[in-house]
Amino acid sequence: MDTFDVIVVGGGISGLSAAGRLRQEGKRVLLLDKAKRLGGRVASGKIGDQLLEVGVPCHGRDRGGVHELSCKPELAASLGLSAETDEEGNSHPTAAALCTQWSNDFDWRQGFVTNLKRQGSAVVVTTEVSGTAVLGRHVILTCPPAQSAQIVTLSGLSLPDELAEIAHTKEILLLVDAHLPSGVEASTSGFLTVHQQTYAKATNRAAFALRADTAWSEAVWEDDAQNTRALLLQEFARMFESARVEHSDTKRWRYANAKHTSPHQFLRVDDAAEIYVAGDGFGDLAQSGVHRAATSGVAVATQLLG
Ligand SMILES: Cc1cc2nc3c(=O)[nH]c(=O)nc-3n(C[C@H](O)[C@H](O)[C@H](O)COP(=O)(O)OP(=O)(O)OC[C@H]3O[C@@H](n4cnc5c(N)ncnc54)[C@H](O)[C@@H]3O)c2cc1C
Repeated sequence: MDTFDVIVVGGGISGLSAAGRLRQEGKRVLLLDKAKRLGGRVASGKIGDQLLEVGVPCHGRDRGGVHELSCKPELAASLGLSAETDEEGNSHPTAAALCTQWSNDFDWRQGFVTNLKRQGSAVVVTTEVSGTAVLGRHVILTCPPAQSAQIVTLSGLSLPDELAEIAHTKEILLLVDAHLPSGVEASTSGFLTVHQQTYAKATNRAAFALRADTAWSEAVWEDDAQNTRALLLQEFARMFESARVEHSDTKRWRYANAKHTSPHQFLRVDDAAEIYVAGDGFGDLAQSGVHRAATSGVAVATQLLG
């Protein structure tokens, strides 16, 4: 069985930060993610033939998000982010480019982690996709807290109270590819806001990612997905009366609720001290999600490096 110093589960900002820091110090690290690419909530989505950022903002230096990390050398280094600025004033690539960069740079495998089992002083990590098991001296879980909690529980380990208490909010995004006359202004909406937009003047074709607020998203979360998309499209048509929609889709996210994060930077599982839990559900509430995710990952790595 393959043996690693550390197995990091989840390749979002926190998992990448932990793996990057450990790799800098020469540790043998395996990164596992259930998705086909790394990045987690740094994500892009295709609508029609347009690629949009549908997660944390990346492109554009005034948009916060990933840019906030590229300005902090100690966090940027483990993520391979640079603060260089391109001709358009963007200080880093798009979500799609970042995810490709990470997927090429990190030693990682696709695998949906289902179980952890202690074996001597190490941990066997079993994944569903590859069906294979790998052995790690330490394991860091950086999935969204509810998913880390599920892995701990399914592994028959006791769930730390602090992990069980991290709450989530939900958000639905509407992706739209539409014909739209140039210069049209959006009417305001009670629950939709434009998250990202592209516009091709030559064809009057626009692509939008619009965020439904959390109260609305929570209210319809369990409803039929097609009905939810129809309601969102109705609101989009109200915002942009002259738009003719060609394609649409939705994207669903869960966030660690900032009012219910753990005050610690990470946790250790009580009855398996080799297993750590990190992510944006941990750390200083005054900080943003990406900052909490990155500092939590780096904090576990630093602890492991002793
Ligand atoms: C639309 C949107 C806008 C945002 N805007 C901002 C912003 O402006 N500023 C800001 O600071 N933050 C923002 N955020 C929040 C920010 O994206 C997150 O706080 C941060 O990216 C979380 O990183 P993470 O590594 O903790 O989790 P994630 O990015 O969720 O990574 C977790 C990873 O675990 C993987 N995983 C889950 N379960 C398993 C399993 N069983 N086995 C293997 N892998 C698994 C997932 O595939 C995922 O890749 C935004 C998020 C969204 C969705």
